[in-house]
Amino acid sequence: MTTDEIEELKLRIASRWPTAEAFYAERDDRTARLVESLVAHVTRPVEIHVDPESAEDATVQRIALVAANLTVRWARRVRVVAPVRAQLHETLRHDGCGTLVERIESEMRTADPFFDATPCAAGIKPLRLFVGPYRAGTPEADEDDFQVHAVSWTALGARLDHPAHLALADEATVAAAALAGAVGASDLFKRAIGHEPSKWMKTFAWDTWCSELVLDTNAWHSVVARPVPGTLDVGRLLLAGVGAIGSALAYLMGMMRLTGNLTLFDRDAVDGTNLNRSPLFTVLDAFEGASKTAVAKRWLSAHSYLSVSSIDGIWRDHAHTFGETPFDAWISLTNEDGAWASVPFQLPPVVLQGTTTSGWGFGAGRHIPRVEDCTMCRMPRPEAAFRGPCAMGELPSVVDQQEVKVPVASLPFLSTASAALVMAMMMQLEGGRDALNLPNQASVDLGTGLPAVVVLHRGPTAGCRGCKAMQSSGWVTRGARGRYGALSTRAGVAVGETCPDRSPEAQVAK
Ligand SMILES: [Zn+2]
Repeated sequence: MTTDEIEELKLRIASRWPTAEAFYAERDDRTARLVESLVAHVTRPVEIHVDPESAEDATVQRIALVAANLTVRWARRVRVVAPVRAQLHETLRHDGCGTLVERIESEMRTADPFFDATPCAAGIKPLRLFVGPYRAGTPEADEDDFQVHAVSWTALGARLDHPAHLALADEATVAAAALAGAVGASDLFKRAIGHEPSKWMKTFAWDTWCSELVLDTNAWHSVVARPVPGTLDVGRLLLAGVGAIGSALAYLMGMMRLTGNLTLFDRDAVDGTNLNRSPLFTVLDAFEGASKTAVAKRWLSAHSYLSVSSIDGIWRDHAHTFGETPFDAWISLTNEDGAWASVPFQLPPVVLQGTTTSGWGFGAGRHIPRVEDCTMCRMPRPEAAFRGPCAMGELPSVVDQQEVKVPVASLPFLSTASAALVMAMMMQLEGGRDALNLPNQASVDLGTGLPAVVVLHRGPTAGCRGCKAMQSSGWVTRGARGRYGALSTRAGVAVGETCPDRSPEAQVAK
């Protein structure tokens, strides 16, 4: 964007946010509730460097876009260092942007017209994130810096006291790239707010196909080559909830060739506090109070081959109609009025969902009717509140979380990380019955870095009314119609018969 265009943008929103201070006071309110030292650190200069030799690579561009977009939603001094002539990959070209730098700058300025992009004064060291493989090394980096990349289904990170090297050069899935970008943004945030180095990200390789996490200085050598779909037909898909996770998912869906029919459902309008974590919403969306479904519909209509429709309303008015509609899958992100408890009784097809916690946690889940647990099984209760081995007391200055009620506070990168896991689960379903062998719940807590991905494969719960509803003959005429209906028949168990209960098997990927 030119200086004139930025000034024009500021002028359009001036009646509500006449100054940067007024804008940040509203936007950063939720994050400041979790991190009371936030304001002292948001002016630390940040630099995001893009590997000059791979700057036209689609994966590197996706990671850089996600990392820059999320970082400018809390950091007020951000500079992106990338080759100005690098052309955008064809799957990312839109809105008149031809180069990577144009698109990054456009997304950052429409997220925050006030941020400062001037280079650091001599002698001041910025917090740096390096994006890409950097096969020729990262000459400017030191041990405080972090690098992210993605290959195949695997998101990669490296602490640059031990530079990592790649065995493979395959393109990555959008999900793996987005996860790498979000984790990179979280490492910048940790350093900015003063987390001690033991809580920063360490060198890792996280395979989003099997949820395996490798943590050692040779982790990048562990990458397994898997087929990476260049296109994805989502069939007839319901996205219920276009809030923090749903809007991040819509943003990511615009980064690859998707076909099919998508129905968006939400009741809310964009407000200033949504700008602190959604990569989709712009300052003009918040200024105009645009409906979240309208913003997502506009984005996906311009950035995908999806046929998109939208419904604005509340869950209890529409849930029954959704149950009667022959969707192939639901992505259920709305939990107003305890929606998750009612989902199984609408006899849905496969349901995917994502979550964030009020601390540093995020996750995603899948529910294949009859052979896996249902959303009601995941409603808060003691075992469902388990968020991994490191959930407690990891924020350096946590405001009493009891006070954090509505609106729920969440750190800026978590919802995009959750959306990336949901997207990986969407892609896993294309693997057909192989998906049945994969965990159906993954949760992570970034409070102390990335010590583990906690995965579970949960079967139907004995005595759960939701799981019982899925076994009914009514489900056969509803959820079973979807393209993934065959996944609900296990070997020797036909649709319509009762499936044996399975005990949840827990494993911690390390
Ligand atoms: Zn259940």
